[in-house]
Amino acid sequence: MAGLARHIDPDALIQQLHDNPHAPHKRGGVHTQNAVSHVTPYSTRYNATSEIPKFRIPHDGAPADAVHQMLKDELDLDGRPNLNLASFVGTYMEEQAEKLMIENLNKNMSDADEYPAMMNMHTRCVNIIADLWGAQKGEKPIGTATTGSSEAIHLGGLAMKRRWQERRDKEGKDKSKPNIIMGANAQVALEKFARYFEVEARILPVSAKSQYRLDPDLVRENIDENTIGIFVILGSTYTGHYEPVEEIHNILDEYEKKTGVDIPIHVDAASGGFIAPFTHAKVGGPKWNFELPRVKSINTSGHKFGLVYAGVGWIIWRDESELPKHLVFELHYLGGTEESYTLNFSRPGAQVIAQYYNLIHLGFTGFRAIMENALANARLLSKSLEATGWFRCISEIHRPKGQHEFKKGEKPFNKEGETSADYNAGLPVVAFTLSDDFKKDYPHVKQAAISNLLRAKQYIIPNYPLPPNEEQTEILRVVVRESMSLDLLDRLISDICATMESVMEISSEVDLAGWQPFSTSAEKKHGSQGHDSKHKHHAKRPMSEGVHRSVC
Ligand SMILES: *Cc1c(COP(=O)(O)O)cnc(C)c1O
Repeated sequence: MAGLARHIDPDALIQQLHDNPHAPHKRGGVHTQNAVSHVTPYSTRYNATSEIPKFRIPHDGAPADAVHQMLKDELDLDGRPNLNLASFVGTYMEEQAEKLMIENLNKNMSDADEYPAMMNMHTRCVNIIADLWGAQKGEKPIGTATTGSSEAIHLGGLAMKRRWQERRDKEGKDKSKPNIIMGANAQVALEKFARYFEVEARILPVSAKSQYRLDPDLVRENIDENTIGIFVILGSTYTGHYEPVEEIHNILDEYEKKTGVDIPIHVDAASGGFIAPFTHAKVGGPKWNFELPRVKSINTSGHKFGLVYAGVGWIIWRDESELPKHLVFELHYLGGTEESYTLNFSRPGAQVIAQYYNLIHLGFTGFRAIMENALANARLLSKSLEATGWFRCISEIHRPKGQHEFKKGEKPFNKEGETSADYNAGLPVVAFTLSDDFKKDYPHVKQAAISNLLRAKQYIIPNYPLPPNEEQTEILRVVVRESMSLDLLDRLISDICATMESVMEISSEVDLAGWQPFSTSAEKKHGSQGHDSKHKHHAKRPMSEGVHRSVC
C-alpha cells in the first residue's frame, strides 16, 4: 500500500497521459482535420483526440450525427427511467401520445392567440379536472396549466397571501407577519413558497401517531389571525399517506366560530389529484376536495399520475373570486387579450395536449384501471416485503382498512375480488425499513447499503430518513407507477431477496463499507457556477446555514 495515492484527479490524469499532440488544449481549439471530413461518428475528433467541450463553446461545431452519438453514449450512464423507482414522475406514454407531443413540440403555451386550438384543449383540461375535484354548482372554477406542482403551489400560496392581506387591509390590521402551516413531511415546493414569498413557515413535526402526516392537534395549537392558510398534502412523498383534509377543515370551522378568523386550505394533491378521484378507496371516506368550502385551491402534477412526461402541472381555484385580481395580468398582443396568472411566461404546449389526450383516451374507467393496478402491485410488493421477515412497511395501503399497526408474523390480508377500498387509502408507494429482528441479527448492515446494492442491478430505490423528529427511522421507498408491471415487480422482489441474502453472508461492517453512499462527480458539484476546467477544483459553494435537506 505504501506510496499509493489516496485521491486522484481524473481530469489531470487524462490530460497528462493524453498522447495526441493535436489535442485542442495544446492547439487552442482549432478544427482538426479528421473532424472536417468524417465518415462515421467514431472517426471524428470527439472519439479520441478531444473531449466534448464542457466549459466553453467550441470555436467550430461538429457534425450532427457525431454529436448525437457522443451525447447519446454519454447519456447511457444515466439510470433507466423505468427502473427509477424513486420518482413519482411518469416515464411511459403511449406511442400515439408521444406522436402528438412530437407533432406539437414547437408550440409555446404563452402564444395563446397563435394557437387557439391548443388553448381550447387547455381550457377543457381545466374544466375536466375541476369537475373531477368536486367543483360546486353556482361557482366558477378557474385555473391554469403550470410547469409542475411547484409553480402551482406557489400560485396557490400567493393567492392565499394576497387574500389575507386584503382582509387585513379592510380590517385596518397589521399585515407584516403572515404565516402558513404545513407538516414536516412537506415536499420542498411548499417550503420554497414560504421562503421565496416571505411567509413564515410553521412546519409542524410529524410522528408515528400522526401517521407521519400533518397532525390536526398541532394545527389547532399553531394557527392564529396571521395564518394565511394551511397546506394539506394529498399524498405525502415520504410514505404516500393522505393528510386528513376534512378533519383539519373541521378544526378550522371550530376556530372560526370561536375567533371569527377564517382560514383557508390549499390542497397539495401533486400525486393524489389524479389518484383519489378514480380509485375505489377514494381518500378512505372523508372529503378532501371542493366539496369542502375551505378548500380554495388544489394543485396536481400532470406529469405524475396525470401520466404525462415531465413539464405539466395544474392549479384550480374553486371560484374565480378566490384568485385575487392582483395576480392577474391582462396581456394584449396580436389582436387578442389573454389573462395570465402564472410565474412562467413561455412553457411547452405539447404536455398540455398530451394531458388532454390521456383524459379523453383513457376516460374515467381507464384511469381507474391504471390506478387500481398500481395500488394492487404496491400491495403485493408491501406484503411480499413483510412476509420475508426482514422488512416492515411504514406505508399502509396494504393493511386492511382501519388497521394501522404492523403485526409481526400476521398472515397478509386478502379478499376475493378485492379493490383498493378494502385497504387503507393512499398513494401506490411502498416505504419500508429493516425489521427490528433483522437489525438485531445483522446490526452491521446499513439500510443505505441495500439501496446501493440494488443500484448495481439498475434499480433506483432511495433510502432516506423520515422528517425531523422521526429521522432515526430510515426508509427505502418504491413508487409504483403505471409502468411497473407484475413481471417487473416479480423481478424486483426476487432481486431484493437475492440482495438481502448476499448482505446476510457478509460478516462485518468492513466488508460492507464499500456499499455505503458515495459522492457525486466534481462536475456536478461545481459545474453550475461557470468555473472553467482550470479552476473548477477551487470552486466552493458556501453551503452556509439555511440550505435545506428535503425529500422529493
Ligand atoms: C412532486 C410533488 C411536488 C412538486 O411537484 P413538481 O410537479 O415536481 O413541481 C409538491 N408536492 C408534492 C406532495 C409532490 O409529490
